[in-house]
Amino acid sequence: METPKPSTNFVREIIDEDLAAGRNGGRVHTRFPPEPNGYLHIGHAKSICLNFGIARDYKGLCNLRFDDTNPETEDVEYVQSIMEDVRWLGFDWQQRLFYASDYFQQLYDYAVTLIRKGKAFVCDQSLEEMRKSRGTITEPGTASPYRNRSVEENLDLFARMRNGEFADGARVLRGKIDMAHPNLLMRDPVFYRIRKAAHHRTGSKWCLYPTYDYTHGICDSLEGITHSICTLEFEVHRPLYDWILNELGIHHPRQIEFARLNLSNTLLSKRKLLELVQKKHVDGWSDPRMPTISGLRRRGYTPEAIRRFCDQIGVAKVDSIVDLVLLENSIREELNKTAPRAMAVLRPVKLIIDNYPPEQVEAFEAVNNPEMPAAGTRTVPFSRELYIEQEDFREAPPKQFYRLSPGREVRLRYAYLVTCVSVAKDPQTGAIREIHCTYDPATRGGNAPDNRKVKSTIHWVSAQHAIEAPVRLYDNLFTKRDPGEVAEGQDFTVTLNPKSLETLTGSKLEPGLARALPGSRYQFERVGYFTVDMQDSSAGRPVFNRIVTLRDTWAKIESKL
Ligand code: ATP
Ligand code: MG
Repeated sequence: METPKPSTNFVREIIDEDLAAGRNGGRVHTRFPPEPNGYLHIGHAKSICLNFGIARDYKGLCNLRFDDTNPETEDVEYVQSIMEDVRWLGFDWQQRLFYASDYFQQLYDYAVTLIRKGKAFVCDQSLEEMRKSRGTITEPGTASPYRNRSVEENLDLFARMRNGEFADGARVLRGKIDMAHPNLLMRDPVFYRIRKAAHHRTGSKWCLYPTYDYTHGICDSLEGITHSICTLEFEVHRPLYDWILNELGIHHPRQIEFARLNLSNTLLSKRKLLELVQKKHVDGWSDPRMPTISGLRRRGYTPEAIRRFCDQIGVAKVDSIVDLVLLENSIREELNKTAPRAMAVLRPVKLIIDNYPPEQVEAFEAVNNPEMPAAGTRTVPFSRELYIEQEDFREAPPKQFYRLSPGREVRLRYAYLVTCVSVAKDPQTGAIREIHCTYDPATRGGNAPDNRKVKSTIHWVSAQHAIEAPVRLYDNLFTKRDPGEVAEGQDFTVTLNPKSLETLTGSKLEPGLARALPGSRYQFERVGYFTVDMQDSSAGRPVFNRIVTLRDTWAKIESKL
């Protein structure tokens, strides 16, 4: 895997210090701990690149661990997709694939240890009662009336909870910490709850499930993790992480928090992404508009571009919103160097060269990639009737419009200079049906022998040779920079962009594109970068997805003309 010298960050600095101080016997061991309750998104990619990247650069290890303690929301479909996405991003957990559910027995035994130490108790309060007695930031909580149960009674009740003797929600196991602790999470937090639900791995073996806070640190410890890297919202959980490991007296990884990735015009929350899928606002988790890894893959992103983006945005301690343009630029820069060029006319209008011989066909040589001479050339057929983009012609051109208009000469890329002589319109609608031009045979290949100036070069395809293919233009899924920020009582879906997908059916493409392979990527000259959709294309029948436009602001200014 190509890796420019990794940029350092505060997490790496902490690791350097730990290594310098001889901690953990010089080991570096991280983990990526997704909950299998949805598909991974670009925010997870940041965490994956950080955790696996550190393991790689420090010659350490990184585990993949499914944090699967909520049977109701988790599913094997998610497990499969997560593994596929981590691999696709270019990372390898080797044989270190773990599940929190593998540790259910050990976690249970540790809970018994805490009960024996008088550090955990069975509580019969309802969730509502617990919430009410927790207190506030300014007021201490009130102890549960069950807090002083004897160790024997707690052990007996906990065993019976496990045996399924009580209904869901009837009892929980709580840590016995401090009801006056300034950190509310330390006020006797819940460690276990009863859920008579089938788990995707343990089936009906357990009806007692540990909470995230109880589980996470113990799993880290059991796996010998040295640095447990997580996002900032877990900073307030750290005292609890530390408390559990200290009370159990087991290996104690260091928890380090970093700022999660927020992207402009994008939502990165599995819960909300699930809602988009369930309410059919998008075509599944892999819809090319989704910020999921599988969506980005189908959109045409490469793993390299995503890794470069993650490296570029860095790792910080404060939350911020990263501009989506940065992600788009990472794929633009790459495809500029690697994607073969092709000519495609997305919204065609016919251009007829009146003085070109009707039966004649010429083949012009076109450069496959000006950035990569080794990519060579191809030939494209040229004839009397062509298609050009509607927007490359204006009957009454505004001031800064230099493309084709009556009386004006432009260059047809690789072919000839042509001058517009007339237009034919639909008598009913007034829409332009044909643009008539004359060509100058002395300009073959697009070169003017007298060096006369033409201000514009436009792309074209030969009408009789062109293929037709559906072309899907994708745009931001949300119109607002911060889509989660909506008025009281409004749903986040109000900021969905109604124009996030436009499907063109009349586009005309150069004939060679009929052989474009699913997953391959092209630059349609002057138009943007496109990929052949992996799901909807078949042999000889490509469907193209727009990955990104060619430029960001430029494209917007130009399209206003
Ligand atoms: P979401 O909020 O999208 O549901 P999550 O944090 O619940 O995400 P997990 O499956 O628990 O999802 O996440 C696995 C790991 O990925 C965690 O360590 C989490 O901190 C990290 N992670 C999740 N979202 C982001 C993000 N936006 N930026 C960076 N890391 C993230
Ligand atoms: Mg989570």
